Amino acid sequence: MSHGMILPGATLGVLGGGQLGRMFVHAAQKMGYFTAVLDPDADSPAGRVSHHHIRTGYQDPQGLAELARLCAAVTTEFENVPAAALQTLAHERPVAPSADAVAIAQHRAREKAHFERCGVPVAPHAVIESPEQLAAVSSHLLPGILKTATLGYDGKGQVRVGTPQELAAAWEQLRRAPCVLEKRLPLAFECSVVLARGQDGAMVQLPVQRNLHRGGILAVTEVLEETMPATFTRQVVDAARSIAEGMAYVGVLCIEFFVLADGRLVVNEIAPRPHNSGHWSIDGADVSQFELQVRAMTGLPLVQPRQHSPALMLNLLGELWFARGAAASPPPWDEVLGLPGCHLHLYGKAEARAGRKMGHLTVTGSSSAAVRATALRVAQILGIAPFEV
Ligand code: ADP
Ligand code: MG
Repeated sequence: MSHGMILPGATLGVLGGGQLGRMFVHAAQKMGYFTAVLDPDADSPAGRVSHHHIRTGYQDPQGLAELARLCAAVTTEFENVPAAALQTLAHERPVAPSADAVAIAQHRAREKAHFERCGVPVAPHAVIESPEQLAAVSSHLLPGILKTATLGYDGKGQVRVGTPQELAAAWEQLRRAPCVLEKRLPLAFECSVVLARGQDGAMVQLPVQRNLHRGGILAVTEVLEETMPATFTRQVVDAARSIAEGMAYVGVLCIEFFVLADGRLVVNEIAPRPHNSGHWSIDGADVSQFELQVRAMTGLPLVQPRQHSPALMLNLLGELWFARGAAASPPPWDEVLGLPGCHLHLYGKAEARAGRKMGHLTVTGSSSAAVRATALRVAQILGIAPFEV
């Protein structure tokens, strides 16, 4: 559905009430929009800060009708929202991203096929949906990582396998779900780029971000001055843009890449929404990824964001609440907030659990060296292992 501009004063809706929804709500409200969140959880991070909170499942016809009635446009904060829900809403209201784009992002095999259509290299892989496909797997894909085709996140739904026997056992472990087996690649580092594309095809992007994962979960994102050579940045941005262009994407899209030991670039996966690796933009750029989401869904102009400070983001996972004993206790925020350029973001989740994203902390400063030094000090105070991104 094409649409004119939706101006501040209107109500914007988001499917999903997690931290991404919460930061979307903050960005929209700052600009003078009202917000509505659809999420079944009474205590959801976004629901707690939104003007409206519709507490139903994502496929509940009444909940979706209420969202459409309240809102001038709707977006999503996670890719596992049923594409059918977006389709239903799209009959009534502008929806960005579209159900079709989300359907690609929520399925690893479809996603990889799309990347190949766009001419962007992917990891060698095989689709495994039947015992025959399992038996036919070429040994050159081992050692590999078996990943469920759908519903995986933060390294969940993945098993590392070295031999055909381990592969067979892993597929059983994953209950013979449709999977993709990927060859394990020697990574020099990982990076991502967040872009926004408008209804009219205009695209802007945030600078390329360098990411460090630990145990399959993003731990650190670094966007410093000298992070990457210009020719490399161009290559990443061109690949990202062709992936967005290739599905006529509207909204914010994050594209994750591997950079191999020999320097080659391989696309890993996409997220049809703002991404954890783009959180630094709230404090380090003049337009954040969440403001881009608001602008893209309302048809407001997409201006090129400008990074005004070197930035480094540390994810605050639930285990930090247990760094000082067996009972959960909040980390010493007062100590880290005494350091220069520390921006604390907590998502309002009541219960800390290992691996749960409780918040993030972005460090900004006048030089990359200063930012790195402060971030390492923060890590030490909070009990995050020292890092090199
Ligand atoms: P998720 O959906 O859980 O983010 P990813 O496919 O992005 O799943 O995998 C999580 C992390 O695991 C990646 O960021 C990377 O560090 C590592 N990884 C995934 N696939 C490969 C691969 N083929 N080779 C090497 N490392 C990989
Ligand atoms: Mg990933």
